[in-house]
Amino acid sequence: MAIAPYEGSIAMLPVAQLYLRDVPDLHAPEGADLLQVLWCPFDHPIMPRTALFWRSAATVTDILTTPPEPPAMQFDNYLPEPCLLNPEQVTEYPDHLELSKEFQEQLGTWSEWQAAVTDVDDYASSPEEFYDRELAAAPGWKVGGWPRWGATDPTPRLCPACGSDMDALLTMATFEGDDDSSWLPNEVFEDREHTGPSSSHTGPEGQAVIDFFRAQGIEVHDRGRVTRDARVAPLGTNPAPRQPTAVQIGSGYDQQLYICPAAPEHPHSELMH
Ligand SMILES: [Zn+2]
Ligand SMILES: [Zn+2]
Repeated sequence: MAIAPYEGSIAMLPVAQLYLRDVPDLHAPEGADLLQVLWCPFDHPIMPRTALFWRSAATVTDILTTPPEPPAMQFDNYLPEPCLLNPEQVTEYPDHLELSKEFQEQLGTWSEWQAAVTDVDDYASSPEEFYDRELAAAPGWKVGGWPRWGATDPTPRLCPACGSDMDALLTMATFEGDDDSSWLPNEVFEDREHTGPSSSHTGPEGQAVIDFFRAQGIEVHDRGRVTRDARVAPLGTNPAPRQPTAVQIGSGYDQQLYICPAAPEHPHSELMH
């Protein structure tokens, strides 16, 4: 049976809203200080297709109280749960497969690692894995940085318009780092150090966002949204700490967006890995 293609239009869903003041590494085009990322919640052909909107926040005055919603989604996991971000700057390095042969050889020399780092014996048979997982690219949602290859080998990211090497713009990840990860956010780390009430970095603007969602009956945590059934749970419990956004890409991968450093108006591209 042939199914006719859908001819109507489908509203896109908001996925991320980032202000330059919060994320100085955003590399916004001249005149823009706000990035809004939306996606169509259907596979195109293997993941949602994103659209980028660079704006000047001061010109955004007419805000819809009931934004359009798509009548359907391919998967529930294409509807992100509201999260309030506490951005943190970190330094990343490329995957070992994207380094020169000389660097790769150095990374593979286990005795050098042993001399420099303690607690790495789990990785003795695969020092490259230690480098990739603990030092190179951070897991989870992030701006900039490097790809975490796993599902595929590294592939070139070339601008479809001018051929320049593209930069990573935003990663929408299925999973944040686990408890054993060396990439734990500062806030989680600090909470562990202090056994008292958890510290909060929520400023007045963050509180305004939390109040906005609460007024609509949606509970928001200041370090990430929890799953739907936990809406009645007290603040501070988080049943899915590795999936605060509830987004799933493929069978648990990352969707990473790339932009052209030579000309921000060139079309962006995206990969799943
Ligand atoms: Zn679509
Ligand atoms: Zn380009």
